[in-house]
Amino acid sequence: MNVITEPARQTPVIHQTDVLVVGSGPGGLSAALAAARAGAEVCLVERFGCFGGNITVVGVEGFAWYRHEQTVEAGGIGREFEDRAREAGAAVPESQSLSYEIDSEGFKLVADRLVEEAGLHAMLHRHFVAPVVDGDRVTGIIVESKAGREAILARVVIDATGDADVAHRAGALMTQPPREEMMAASVMFHLAGVDKRAFMDEVRADPQTYKDWGGGGEWNIETSGKEDDMFSPFLKKPFAKAIEDGLIPPHLNTIAGTWGAVHDTGELTYMNLVHLDGIDGTDPDSLTAGEIEGRRQAMLAIEALRRYMPGCSGVRLRNFGMSLGIRDTRKLNAVYNMTEVDVREEGRFEDSIGIYPEFIDGYGILILPTTGRYMHIPYRSMLPRNVKGLLVTGRATGGDRIAHAATRNMSCCAVAGQGAGIAAAQAARSNRDVAEVDMTAVQAELDRQGVRWQ
Ligand SMILES: Cc1cc2nc3c(=O)[nH]c(=O)nc-3n(C[C@H](O)[C@H](O)[C@H](O)COP(=O)(O)OP(=O)(O)OC[C@H]3O[C@@H](n4cnc5c(N)ncnc54)[C@H](O)[C@@H]3O)c2cc1C
Repeated sequence: MNVITEPARQTPVIHQTDVLVVGSGPGGLSAALAAARAGAEVCLVERFGCFGGNITVVGVEGFAWYRHEQTVEAGGIGREFEDRAREAGAAVPESQSLSYEIDSEGFKLVADRLVEEAGLHAMLHRHFVAPVVDGDRVTGIIVESKAGREAILARVVIDATGDADVAHRAGALMTQPPREEMMAASVMFHLAGVDKRAFMDEVRADPQTYKDWGGGGEWNIETSGKEDDMFSPFLKKPFAKAIEDGLIPPHLNTIAGTWGAVHDTGELTYMNLVHLDGIDGTDPDSLTAGEIEGRRQAMLAIEALRRYMPGCSGVRLRNFGMSLGIRDTRKLNAVYNMTEVDVREEGRFEDSIGIYPEFIDGYGILILPTTGRYMHIPYRSMLPRNVKGLLVTGRATGGDRIAHAATRNMSCCAVAGQGAGIAAAQAARSNRDVAEVDMTAVQAELDRQGVRWQ
């Protein structure tokens, strides 16, 4: 490969803090809020212009669509996201569960308030590009922005970038599934101009269930049986008709999926209909191809809805998510990697930092937490084996494929994030490495912050 040599340079240190969180999705935002509430000085760095990660950037609004009467959960900051969104008028009842669908635009404001109330040092529009390391310890990060290249130093860094960018660049041991085995990427979109009454009449007249997910690509699933006849806001028939009529080419039988919320104002949001295989979210060329192909497929899906879905004849595109949605990339090879057995068989851990219901969604499996079964999330799944001063939280925590299908869910990322934030605050305060935090003190703070961890 042709290369150039960059000259060595001096980089200004623009900020120093106890806890530095990189990435502000469900994992990072929870981590930053929890660390601040545990008494630490916290800086939250985000590459885009809003907090919220996939909720606001991609438009993923189904925060807790798994919740049923007997579901047992951690509470904590994840629940607060939903409650605060509802109080702010930025959430509506979700169609298949006892939860609220979070409005992706309204949540930008909710997150702003949470950040301000917690007194976080917020830095939007700064992109992490390299770690600052001292031996095997991460001591800060380099960011790039319109202001150029700058350094931020911290006692503890929490990597909540989703792709574990900081850990990867710092040389932490990682795993990454081959491109062809990664979960599909999606261009998400929201529509305007739906006739809500006609749309809902059709949904009631021909209710779809999780059983209907079967029969092709992303949507072939194994359930535990109890899910099969439950209602799902699933759309496939309009796209099958579009293929029959030649509007959509047959190889795009991957176009199908769920709608999120239908509003009185005629918006139909969180349209999860486009699924692109083979996209690597850590490769910008692959991301470029995915964005363009995803938008093309979204427009085919919209045309099919116009023609074949009652209530949709007058719909138009309201907006795409700001970015292609990526479900699956690098994962930390952590001190403990969660396993399929842990998520299927109620894993229990001494170093639990929160519980998560038995909800598995991905790699062809859908198990809903309709019983009170739940697992513990172990702190060690966020702890690198060979790098100090760093925790990885959110969807990149350590685990095998099926464990990822549980832990990638936004409310699980919020549970992990809150635990990471509390542990980082404890480490900073006690001048210990994150590998040596006192778990009893972490769990006491989890109690104080209202998180169920056992
Ligand atoms: C299309 C789609 C549909 C989904 N549906 C659901 C669903 O219905 N329910 C559910 O629970 N989950 C769903 N998920 C999964 C879920 O959205 C993610 O797993 C979850 O958001 C991960 O949270 P996170 O905090 O780890 O990362 P993210 O939400 O990805 O947030 C990471 C943040 O870090 C920032 N960042 C990244 N790199 C850098 C950098 N170098 N410098 C600075 N900032 C950076 C990003 O801009 C982003 O704000 C879906 C995912 C996709 C893509």
